[in-house]
Order: sequence, then structure tokens, then C-alpha cells
Amino acid sequence: MPKIVTLPGDGIGPEVTAAAVEVLREVAPDVTIEEHAIGGGAYDTYGDPLPQRTRDALEDADAALLGTVGGAHNSPWNTLPRHLRPESGLLALRKMLGCYANLRPVRVQPGLEHLSPLKPELARGVDILIVRELLGGIYFDGDRKIEGDTAYNTMRYTTAEVERVAKVAFWAAEQRKGRVTSVDKANVLEVSELWRRDVQALRDREYRSIHLNHEYVDSVAMLIVANPGRYDVIVTENLFGDILSDLAAVIPGSLGLMPSASLGDGTGLFEPIHGSAPDISGQGIANPAAAIMSVGMMLRHGLQRGDAANVVDRAVALALREHPTRDLGGRADTRTFTRTVLDAMGTPA
Ligand code: ATP
Ligand code: MG
Repeated sequence: MPKIVTLPGDGIGPEVTAAAVEVLREVAPDVTIEEHAIGGGAYDTYGDPLPQRTRDALEDADAALLGTVGGAHNSPWNTLPRHLRPESGLLALRKMLGCYANLRPVRVQPGLEHLSPLKPELARGVDILIVRELLGGIYFDGDRKIEGDTAYNTMRYTTAEVERVAKVAFWAAEQRKGRVTSVDKANVLEVSELWRRDVQALRDREYRSIHLNHEYVDSVAMLIVANPGRYDVIVTENLFGDILSDLAAVIPGSLGLMPSASLGDGTGLFEPIHGSAPDISGQGIANPAAAIMSVGMMLRHGLQRGDAANVVDRAVALALREHPTRDLGGRADTRTFTRTVLDAMGTPA
């Protein structure tokens, strides 16, 4: 029986997480769900944005479902020492779980093409999964310095680091259209040369059914907006993935539509990419779609229940057409949207 830890957090986190938990209970009645504290609320209650009891609960959890952490710009939390602020709880959580692959789907939902900044004919049918390496590369390597008028950082990868994230991408592609684009800068960077060589070798060894191609990051930055329909799964290193995933995140047209997954060898972390939205929290109007789609990702990537994930994804797509929330130009509140998803899950495909 899988154990799920929910971490509702602050702002609209508890509202969207409650909706997501309703959906999870419906589609996977056998899972155990334990709620724990994180963020500003956890600091208020326990004096720690990631309390020991939360850490303990995560130790034997199969997956964690996170809401959002943090307060408004004028929140007293922001005047705390850095290690006690809500966001430190999130950083400590990510560090503790050791997730090396971050997955962000970029999907334009049918009927919501008009929200995209892209022309409808370009936006229609966009369905990309960006897999970003999360623990290595230039952000993390120890070899770094600023001294006088000179500074440097180092981008370093090992074959083992490249292979473990590439495996996630190949595995995901097997359940999608079977195409992976590996993104690098192999025309100028040695570290990219290794990346390209190792991704290709893994494909040739273990994933022969996958169609793999390699593209340069500058070219992908252009094509992902000029012709997003050409991509299925994109896999790339940390810095390139950071930039490309934020660039691609504007394509669906609303933060409320963007789920994410972070995977490692232990407990996976599933969360919407939006923030705590203090401007609308407590009003019951937050869009829970990203949180609910994060449950979909948990079912698919954390619990290996692809069929249940498909049920959730289909129901969300239908609810987005029938009862869009305000951020999408509709009128539904959190409750109505969630109800629609739950009803749609009972309807045969
Ligand atoms: P950060 O992530 O750094 O805290 P932020 O506070 O600007 O950035 P959000 O909290 O995501 O980002 O809010 C940005 C805007 O999007 C706000 O106006 C917020 O109300 C809106 N928003 C974010 N998530 C949702 C959601 N799930 N439903 C409706 N509106 C949302
Ligand atoms: Mg915020």
C-alpha cells in the first residue's frame, strides 16, 4: 500500500492540495495519505520551515505532494533569518530527497489555445515533456570563485549523472510518442560532447525503439516557440533546462496549468510550479488544475500507475473545457472545478 505525504504549505497551497487529495483518493483508494507541515505555517507552529516530524514522515514515503510555500511580499516571514524563511523549507526538502530529474510537461489543453501567446495554429496540440538534470552542472560544482576582476564556475558531468537522467527521459518517451531530443552545446563545450556521447550510447544499448536526436540549445530556444509541435521529450542539463523550462512555461498561457515532478532514487516530489498567490488565497477561487495534474504525474512517475494517470489527465482536460477557473477567463471556483474533475473521472472515456 503506497504511502503519500502531503505538504499543503502556505497561501493557496492548502486549497489546491485539498482538491488534489480528493482526486487522489477517488482514483487510488488504497493509498495512505499523511499530511505534514512545511513552509511559513510550519515555522509558526514548530519554529522550523521543514520540521523533523515532516522529515521523518518522508523517510518511508513513496511520494510527496507539495502545495506552495511562502507569504506575500510584506509577510513577517520575509524578515526572518534566511534559514527560517518558508522557501528554505522547500530548498531543504529538495536537498533531502535528492531528486536528479525535474519533469515539466508543457501542454496546450484542447479548447484553451486562445490563452497561449503563440498563434492558435502553432499552439494547438503542443505536448512537450522537458526533463531537466537537477543536481549537477554549473550551479553545483565546487570549482567556483570570484576574485578581483576574475570569476569562474565549472560545468561538470559524469557518465553516471548523464545516464540516470537520460533513463528517465527514455522511460517517459516510451509512454509517449517515443521521441527524445537531447539538448546540448556540443559544438563548443566538452561537457556537452560527453553528454551527447553518453545519451546516444545509452539509447543504442537499451532503448533502441526510441527515436533520439541531438540539437543545440540556442536552436531549441528558437524552435520551441517557432515550431513547438516538433518536440516530444526534451532532455537537457541543469542550466539549459532551467532556461528552456521557463521559456516553455509561457506557452500554455497560465501558471495554473503547470504541474511538475522531481524524481530520484527515493521519494519523488510532485508540485504545481505556481507560487502561493497571496493575492487570491483564502477566497476559494484558486485554480487547482496544476495540483491535480501533479497527482497525475505522481500516479504515472511515482507509483507506476499509468492508467490511473490517464483517467486524471482526461478528466482535467474535460473540466478545463466545461468549467474553466477565473485565471483562465472562466467563472468556476476551486470547488466547482474539482467537482467537475471528480464527476468526469466516473465517466467512461
Ligand atoms: P513566486 O513564485 O516567486 O512566489 P509570484 O508570487 O509572483 O512568484 P505566484 O504566487 O504564482 O507567483 O502568483 C503569480 C500570479 O498568478 C498571481 O496573480 C496569482 O494570483 C496567480 N496565480 C498563481 N497560481 C494560481 C492558481 N493556481 N490559480 C489562480 N491564479 C494563480
Ligand atoms: Mg509567490
